[in-house]
Amino acid sequence: MSKASPRRIGLFGGTFDPVHIGHLRSALETAELLGLDELRLLPAARPPHRETPQVSAQQRLAMVELATAGVAPLRVDDRELQRDKPSYTIDTLESLRAELGKDVQLVLLVGWDAFCGLPTWYRWEELLQHCHLAVLQRPDADMEAPEALRDLLAARSVADPSALSGAAGQVTFIWQTPLAVSATQIRALLAQGRSPRFLVPDAVLNYIEAHELYRAPQTN
Ligand code: ATP
Repeated sequence: MSKASPRRIGLFGGTFDPVHIGHLRSALETAELLGLDELRLLPAARPPHRETPQVSAQQRLAMVELATAGVAPLRVDDRELQRDKPSYTIDTLESLRAELGKDVQLVLLVGWDAFCGLPTWYRWEELLQHCHLAVLQRPDADMEAPEALRDLLAARSVADPSALSGAAGQVTFIWQTPLAVSATQIRALLAQGRSPRFLVPDAVLNYIEAHELYRAPQTN
């Protein structure tokens, strides 16, 4: 069904090495809560020495594509992989704005820890010109924002995540219990010859097995 209001697009970055059900549940729940028309997963480029041995950026991307195929409103956006080094978030946002126009609502999802580190991000004060921020918070977490973010929170917080208005500029919080799954755990299982079945979608598991990924013991 088409909507009269501007499209609302969420952005969920990560290395997705590999993508797993923790990412996917969180993405889906957030999309529902925010009423997103699309939630784009953006696999991040990494410096070559930080890549997992024998698993390329293209393979990480392929797994995210398999995991999200046919799962509206999840989508994949591979713009950060079109460069061979990590992108600054501001560059990604500028690229999206140039493509999508000024009226689309962009909502960048960030974990609480990442949010607390916001003042160290490159050109961080410009981020909210391009997007809203949805901060993912655990229900049981302590929440003491750093001094540098207090004014921003006082001026820009919106209590109801579905009530973000305008194309950019507001901050909201989403309380979510993450599933106890990490990509590190999945890589470790595979390196030990054990199965990550049910921690990743079957299509991702089949891809991992077909390409014999993550068999080597981890070095990082
Ligand atoms: P690794 O174990 O390799 O560090 P990861 O599982 O944490 O990886 P990332 O690709 O680094 O996955 O994470 C991308 C985003 O997903 C981050 O914002 C991270 O906080 C979030 N995330 C990771 N695991 C979960 C989970 N189980 N539930 C919800 N969100 C998650």
